[in-house]
Amino acid sequence: MSVFLTISRLRPTTSFDQTLACQAFPFLTSGCLTEFRQGSSGCYVEPSDFPTPAPTPIGEFSPSLANQLLSCQLRVGFSRDLRYSEWNRPSTHAALGLVAHAVTEVAFRVRDWPQDPSARRQRLEDLWAQEIQRQAARIAEAWAPATPPPAEDWLAYALTRIRTIRRAEKQVEKATRGRVKATRGGVEVKLRDESSKLFGRADRIEQVGQATRVIDLKTGLRQAEPSEEQRRQLLLYAVLIHRVEGQWPVSIDVEDASGSTYSQPLVPEEAEAALAEAIAAVDSFNQVVAESRLLAVAEPSPDRCRWCDFRVMCAPFWKALRTDWGQRAAAGSIVGRGDSPASPYVTIELDYPRDLAGTDLHISGLAAPVSPDATKAAATDWVGTAGAQDSRARWSTTIRVW
Ligand code: SF4
Repeated sequence: MSVFLTISRLRPTTSFDQTLACQAFPFLTSGCLTEFRQGSSGCYVEPSDFPTPAPTPIGEFSPSLANQLLSCQLRVGFSRDLRYSEWNRPSTHAALGLVAHAVTEVAFRVRDWPQDPSARRQRLEDLWAQEIQRQAARIAEAWAPATPPPAEDWLAYALTRIRTIRRAEKQVEKATRGRVKATRGGVEVKLRDESSKLFGRADRIEQVGQATRVIDLKTGLRQAEPSEEQRRQLLLYAVLIHRVEGQWPVSIDVEDASGSTYSQPLVPEEAEAALAEAIAAVDSFNQVVAESRLLAVAEPSPDRCRWCDFRVMCAPFWKALRTDWGQRAAAGSIVGRGDSPASPYVTIELDYPRDLAGTDLHISGLAAPVSPDATKAAATDWVGTAGAQDSRARWSTTIRVW
């Protein structure tokens, strides 16, 4: 049975939020009081009053951070500012990926497996259950007071479990026969290049004879040609292997859950170019942060913003959003609320998307009542369609109020 719940939070994230905090806690700092004097009356806030992150500059960086920087610097900015980073909460999709990687790593690293195949399988199933429990607890904590569904109901749970355990069984067999050996530890190998400040954990590095391969493990089936991001990530790991091991891998590979591999020969010049591009992205980010231009450089789009946790606070996103983006996202003034713990709801008169300005969106089934002090709300990912007027929250609906 599906459970439809939501999350609502009131956090001091904008000047208006800080104003409310000052009114509630007059002993707060003088900086906050200055904010109060310069802020609004406390009764109304312009819908454009969304926060600007002030992230810490980047020193060292991983291949995945390089990919994030080349997608959206503002998103990285939010995730590196402690006032907003908690909004980046784990998804069940990412959790399944982490569990699959953990099981695969053990299958590759551990050597004392039972001879009996059914006992071996039982051990892998126990490991899967243990890792799932860990990730489910993490998700429940991050999304409280919403109640995520049990792991068995997560999208693609059963399929990912079957694929992961099957791949792990094959891996155990392969490793115990000694057909491959790991370099520097096997899967999830930590690597670092002090010169460029690039570091990371490659999914797997395999050595067969004199040849080294760097492999990205996927939980899906039928891996096609790697995406630009997958390829960049593998090229950067190839650089790391070169810096640490002193030789280039012969190939960069993506392995799907069936064990099939999409392999490409490594061209060292392409790997060095990927590193130069990543370093330039880091330098650009640090400069943009120093010049307070994060909002100005953002380029929101349907694909780029689709899964971004920071949409509820991202001014460029709301300014660009149109209903035909197909996103379940809306923001505006709170014109109705239900505070009964049994069935809390909120009704928002929309400012955004702009082509729906002035219409109402009603969201029922919230996990908790909306704060009585809040006058504005932004919501994403309810049950239903983009442009809906009447919808229901799901456990992973995000609502920010201020
Ligand atoms: S919503 Fe879009 S523009 Fe805003 S931070 Fe996220 S990805 Fe970037």
